[in-house]
Amino acid sequence: MTDCIFCKIVQGDIPSQIVYNGANVTAFRDINPAAPVHILIVPNRHIDHIRDPRAFEDDVLKEMFQVANQVAEMEGIAESGYRLLFNYGPDANLVVPHLHLHLLGGRPLGPMIARS
Ligand code: AMP
Ligand code: ZN
Repeated sequence: MTDCIFCKIVQGDIPSQIVYNGANVTAFRDINPAAPVHILIVPNRHIDHIRDPRAFEDDVLKEMFQVANQVAEMEGIAESGYRLLFNYGPDANLVVPHLHLHLLGGRPLGPMIARS
């Protein structure tokens, strides 16, 4: 996709701190981290979001979760623990329309969502 920021990161057209670069999946540090470890795991080919049927083709999601576990090991948070999440839609604040799995850890993350 021409105008997609995460496609551009995968293709190396805009800079990012890449921590894993595979044939199908890439992982890079979030530019505005919410925790000491905040990494985004994305499919290399453009998929809009978790409701896009392409997310369920070719073991894409399986590989994203496998890479997330591997990166958690690399970052030294496999024992202390981490959170994996997808946002979808306005209530969840999905901002970038290229499927991405958030990997968060490196400190106690507290309850899963803020209670309002
Ligand atoms: P979401 O709210 O799930 O769409 O999350 C999008 C995430 O992408 C946010 O945490 C942003 O900080 C992050 N982000 C946006 N632009 C970049 C970028 N150029 N490099 C790394 N992370 C980014
Ligand atoms: Zn894209």
